[in-house]
Amino acid sequence: MHPALMVRLLLPTLLCLFPILLRGQGRESATAVRTPNELGRIPIVEWHQVVDKDGTYKVSRERFRAELEELHRRGYVPISLASYLDKQIDIPVGKSPVLFTFDDASPSQFRYLERNGQLVIDPTSALGILLDFIKTHPDWKPRGVFCMLPAADAGHAFFGNKGIDGQKSEWRMKKVKQLHELGFELCNHTLWHAKLSKYSDAVVQEQFARGLMAIDSAVPGYNVRGMALPYGLWPKNRALTKAGSWTDPKSKRVVRYTHEAVFEVAGGPARSPHDPLFDAGKLPRVPLQGGTNLTTTLNEMDKAGKWARYVSDGNPKTVAKP
Ligand SMILES: [Zn+2]
Repeated sequence: MHPALMVRLLLPTLLCLFPILLRGQGRESATAVRTPNELGRIPIVEWHQVVDKDGTYKVSRERFRAELEELHRRGYVPISLASYLDKQIDIPVGKSPVLFTFDDASPSQFRYLERNGQLVIDPTSALGILLDFIKTHPDWKPRGVFCMLPAADAGHAFFGNKGIDGQKSEWRMKKVKQLHELGFELCNHTLWHAKLSKYSDAVVQEQFARGLMAIDSAVPGYNVRGMALPYGLWPKNRALTKAGSWTDPKSKRVVRYTHEAVFEVAGGPARSPHDPLFDAGKLPRVPLQGGTNLTTTLNEMDKAGKWARYVSDGNPKTVAKP
């Protein structure tokens, strides 16, 4: 066949394939029209450490940036846990919500640098990277949930203590307060990452109550609505994840807690709050770390069926059904 004729015959085929090829690579056009579906799934993505290299519970800084970029490019907008629980997701028509969660309160997520006597957010910590990204992508707001440990080892104590990673113990409360002031939400991840499955009811309640007390010391009166299960392990008495109490032996004060949202470690994209099967007390997440890939999940959510993504109709007062 004459080469020119072959091109003429093949060209339409190639042009038809082009959008499919693009989609296959996760490069869906930002202007693609998506049909509203407010019963669709919402990814609750979960990051741990943001460091030099990918690994277990770790992503590299470059990868973290690339994940933000991919979510933005594919039409996702970060929302608050409050708007999710209250069924008040208010994002533009055609966009999809994503809920960011950051677990374990390491300095890699939120690090201060001392510059001329001032404390500034390290631009290479996850918070610094995210805030920079939002500056250049103003359709995103600082939204997301920090599931924190006040007193775990190796600097996992409200983002660093004892000089670990250059972080001073006295900066801890200031960091928690600043996250709240920036627009992020504070979430309980127990006192020191206890494996709740192996402890008594009393210890489970102490872990939650003391986690809550520490957040309250940083932001008095803050309503903690979410909790993340350390290692994804449930206590024997699951009801204690939702509510419980503990008596402080020193002051004899009774500390009560309630958590509306309980985050698991994995399980895929979560249900819409409008889905009749939605259960805030058992929310699956999409962990992002070495060996797991955001693109795979987002591609699955672009297909019709069980995992199809939530797409907004632009009006938080109406629920668009497919
Ligand atoms: Zn954890």
